[in-house]
Amino acid sequence: MGSKRFTYRQLNKDYAYWIERRRLGQERGGCVSGHLACSEEGGIGQNVLFDCGLGTLEAIADFCPDAFWDQPLAVFITHGHIDHHAELMVLSEIYCTRRGDLHQKRPPLSVFCTEPTRRHLERTHWYGFNGGATLAFHPLVPGQPCQKGPFSITPIPTDHFEGAVIFAVDFPSAHRLVIAWDLTTPPPPFAALHSPSLALIDATTWCAMKDWTSHAGIEELVASGFLEGLDLSYAPDRQHYGAYLVHYSGLEDPWGMLHDAGLKARFDAAYPRLSDVVRVAERGQVWQFE
Ligand SMILES: [Zn+2]
Ligand SMILES: [Zn+2]
Repeated sequence: MGSKRFTYRQLNKDYAYWIERRRLGQERGGCVSGHLACSEEGGIGQNVLFDCGLGTLEAIADFCPDAFWDQPLAVFITHGHIDHHAELMVLSEIYCTRRGDLHQKRPPLSVFCTEPTRRHLERTHWYGFNGGATLAFHPLVPGQPCQKGPFSITPIPTDHFEGAVIFAVDFPSAHRLVIAWDLTTPPPPFAALHSPSLALIDATTWCAMKDWTSHAGIEELVASGFLEGLDLSYAPDRQHYGAYLVHYSGLEDPWGMLHDAGLKARFDAAYPRLSDVVRVAERGQVWQFE
């Protein structure tokens, strides 16, 4: 038995879709989704997908080996907004019906979400949860850790939307991953979020305009003390990677959308004390943990 290795990949990172980002020269990309994997020598122990919005299937094709489709998979959904689950039914059809013998169907794909989120998913993906039997609901209770393979995944409630959660993921090796996209009011410094090895954070806009967008915006993430309260550190040799901004749109800011490099430059100029621990994620970016 070899030692376990963990990989997190930001499959897609934007809120603005590529048709909007195209004006900045970006030709591909979709809505935020992430892929967490545990591998052992001789195979994959567990794949976990966080959200499944537009562009997820293309990103899996771009970045994951074909064997992804034959490995254990669980899907965790943050909330019911369509940019976080639009491709769930199609994903489950492929996973359950297109990889075995022609007439052999796999058991339904496990979908972990809160009860209010289930209602949104079931309306959109009715066939998968019912006649198609390719999707199965597993309830998440905010604050209660859920063990999936080697990962302990704690959903933490946010006021972004009914049933919405962010996730703190604890690895057996003491690394912690925080998935905090789609934040309206930045949460207090819950112990479960403290000192992550990597945090993915909602940065829909620069300006604080949550009454309009229902997203906190970077200004509010800093002003509220949320980013500093995470106690981030950047030490790649110890596999501490700080925070990466995701879910960026910028469409709503008065100066419009920025390139990723422009967003990072603006951040560094405004908040130099955080510049070493906050970066902008790239599509397909991968971080390794042991
Ligand atoms: Zn949302
Ligand atoms: Zn969103």
